[in-house]
Amino acid sequence: MTINNPVIIPRAQHIITRTQISENALKVLNRLKEAGYASLLVGGCVRDLMLGREPKDFDVVTNARPEQIRKLFHNARIIGRRFRLVHVRFGWDIIEVATFRAIPRDITEEPPSTEEETEGEDVEDDSTTDAPDHNIFGSQEEDAVRRDFTVNALYYDIHDFSVIDYADGVPDLKAGILRVIGDPATRYREDPVRMLRAVRFAAKLGFNLEEKTAAPIRDLAPLLATVSPARMFEEVLKLFHGGYALETYELLRHYGLFQYLFPQTEKSLEHEEGGFPVTLVPRALANTDARVSADKPVTPAFLFAALLWEPVREQMGEHIARGMNGHDAMFRAAEHVLREQLRHVTIPKRFSVPMREIWSMQSRLERRAGQQAFRLLEIKRFRAAYDFLLLRAETGEAEQSLADWWTRFQSADENERRVMVAEFAAPGGGGKRRRRRRRSSPAQAPRHE
Ligand code: ATP
Ligand code: MG
Repeated sequence: MTINNPVIIPRAQHIITRTQISENALKVLNRLKEAGYASLLVGGCVRDLMLGREPKDFDVVTNARPEQIRKLFHNARIIGRRFRLVHVRFGWDIIEVATFRAIPRDITEEPPSTEEETEGEDVEDDSTTDAPDHNIFGSQEEDAVRRDFTVNALYYDIHDFSVIDYADGVPDLKAGILRVIGDPATRYREDPVRMLRAVRFAAKLGFNLEEKTAAPIRDLAPLLATVSPARMFEEVLKLFHGGYALETYELLRHYGLFQYLFPQTEKSLEHEEGGFPVTLVPRALANTDARVSADKPVTPAFLFAALLWEPVREQMGEHIARGMNGHDAMFRAAEHVLREQLRHVTIPKRFSVPMREIWSMQSRLERRAGQQAFRLLEIKRFRAAYDFLLLRAETGEAEQSLADWWTRFQSADENERRVMVAEFAAPGGGGKRRRRRRRSSPAQAPRHE
């Protein structure tokens, strides 16, 4: 890989000011500088600041080695095994400090600082890990060209407040182009996750993939199968919880990547073009985006519930057609769809358990007689299940009147609620048909017609 002379953009010619940089990041940058080391911001934060956007977090790079970095801060610890980084902690805020990295020679997967890697123990002994570091650490130039996209390889130097561009990132930033550094196919083979990152940044920044960057993706998409499901989970959250889920989803499908994340969902999308499957997922993602932009919480349980609902619904229907009761059909379908999904993307139990609750509550929301509606309201997962019902009603898969009933029930006072339940149970109140069904099938068969 050839390394160009960097273009240096002096303070007067770019828009980044120190007031846009978090106080904690500035503390770290200045401490490193005062200790005589190189000290720069790099990656997404410089890119976002240059675009006039607020960065998600601030990543710092330096020529100081992890042990040297750690000694400068009382609140720092070394993390990671293969490539060690330093986390400097300020309460909840963590500033990640990395040493300039060399161009890797023999890697197949290069997670930058993922959970997997950061689970490493604290490295307390300074002397033992020095030798292999020589292959890993490099110059600032090398650090730049091993990064994924030109716009992600910009540096902001705290010594003179200049922006340093080794990879022609600034012209791409201005033109709205996402371009891989080096040969795209080679870089995707080194780390297939870069294909997902390409799509994520294109959606988030509203950029276009440069032609050569886009060209190999469709052919190399199957390489995603070689990425660990745990890393895929982290990536899925970044793809769909970053505020641009809908555009991201459309691009993932366009480039043939989605099927390697959610193969069962992809299949069901093919089955019923024009029916609910095509609309439930995009609607869920649009809702997620709206929540993110309104600073409301989002949960992976709901996201996965929506993404996998259609395969679950299909399988449940097949079980019921073969005579299984609704409860068992749901259990079996959920079990199977989840097991298949875990081969591609991990879903930690703390999310898959509530995901399955959201699913199984869908049929319970139909039964409202006696104390049932009151009891459902008390369940921890009620709100998520209700939101999911709204989504299904929007797509025409559940009855709007059922969703409306629950909307009214929640805002009603105690008396009104009793009246609603009584009306529901009364002949002609919508409860009769359901009641009869319930009696005839004590195993609480839900109807997901
Ligand atoms: P975000 O706004 O999502 O945080 P980001 O560009 O900061 O975007 P990170 O995942 O935080 O993305 O990574 C920080 C930087 O590390 C990137 O800008 C890029 O320079 C480099 N990087 C991250 N992942 C890779 C990768 N898989 N291959 C090469 N470089 C990477
Ligand atoms: Mg980042």
